[in-house]
Amino acid sequence: MKILKVTLHLIEQPLLSPFTTSLATVNRRESILVEISGDKGHIGWGEVVAFSSPWYTEETIKTCWHIMEDFLIPLVLNQQITHPTELTTLFSSIKRHNMAKAGIETACWDLFAKEEGIPLSKAIGGSRVKIEAGVVVSLTTIDQMLFKIEEHLNQGYKRIKIKISPGKEYQIVKRIFDEFPNIPLMVDANSAYQLKDIHHLQALDEFGLMMIEQPLGYDDIIDHAILQKELQTPICLDESIVTYEDARKAIELGSCRIMNIKVGRVGGLTEAIKIHNLCLQHNIPVWVGGMLETGISRAHNIHLASLSNFTIPGDISASSRYWKQDIIIPEVQVEKGNISVPETRGIGFEVNVERIQAITKEQRIYT
Ligand code: MG
Repeated sequence: MKILKVTLHLIEQPLLSPFTTSLATVNRRESILVEISGDKGHIGWGEVVAFSSPWYTEETIKTCWHIMEDFLIPLVLNQQITHPTELTTLFSSIKRHNMAKAGIETACWDLFAKEEGIPLSKAIGGSRVKIEAGVVVSLTTIDQMLFKIEEHLNQGYKRIKIKISPGKEYQIVKRIFDEFPNIPLMVDANSAYQLKDIHHLQALDEFGLMMIEQPLGYDDIIDHAILQKELQTPICLDESIVTYEDARKAIELGSCRIMNIKVGRVGGLTEAIKIHNLCLQHNIPVWVGGMLETGISRAHNIHLASLSNFTIPGDISASSRYWKQDIIIPEVQVEKGNISVPETRGIGFEVNVERIQAITKEQRIYT
């Protein structure tokens, strides 16, 4: 394929309700949509999942725009690309900036699958026709969280995740299990703990949680290995794993027993697949993490989750979990806790151009 044109769309839309973690609250969500036009008349779509401020990783919407405009787009424009995996080499001179890279790389995967006339899941070697949906409950009052959990369980979600912070976690988790004794529950700390807080985390062992996600430093794998030895509950790493090499080292050290893979965090689908395959070899189950994304990134996540070692329901929920109106047609639906993997070519959803125009703050075309 040859990329003749790249269009960046900066959009902004309100979340249906504010989303709070131990680190930040998100009310309005900016995203950059990447539209890539190929020489065979097809269009590929990708999404930059960085936030407006660097609370999750160091990248932001503005850094991603800058890196794409000044460095990444010039590397792909008018290039003959045989396969999307070549972008890893093409981008290797640019250090990190994984979410910027993933925005373009995922658009190239969509374009490639469309040109081949196959669903993205087939292009990446996926086999599932349905994936299991999980959902995240924002950190609010315990009564509000219980209300939301009941709603999501009634909607059929197969796994509930809550955000926790030190000192309040035991009481919240206990209340949840008192109300819903059989709930498939996991907790995400977004790095809110230190090793000295180990007693808070050990206290959670009695509940048999599915996992504790990223309890310690956002860039740590050493202390997590120490912590995992002292915990019965599996640790899942999120923020700490930004490359295949991070994943390899975390597995060798015993820093986690489960891994969360986010396409944006690791720089694209190619690296995500490599990490998936590594984890498969080591019996580490994986799941797809969410970034409060629009339907485009959500679609990429659905296809990624069709790979065999994605055995744990991910943060892939219905479009209506976050948006009054999503930017894809049809919107992502959850039926009895499952999402169907689209069988039409590419990401398998149409992009709602009118909706995108209605929420666009800035658009730029590169040829
Ligand atoms: Mg997380």
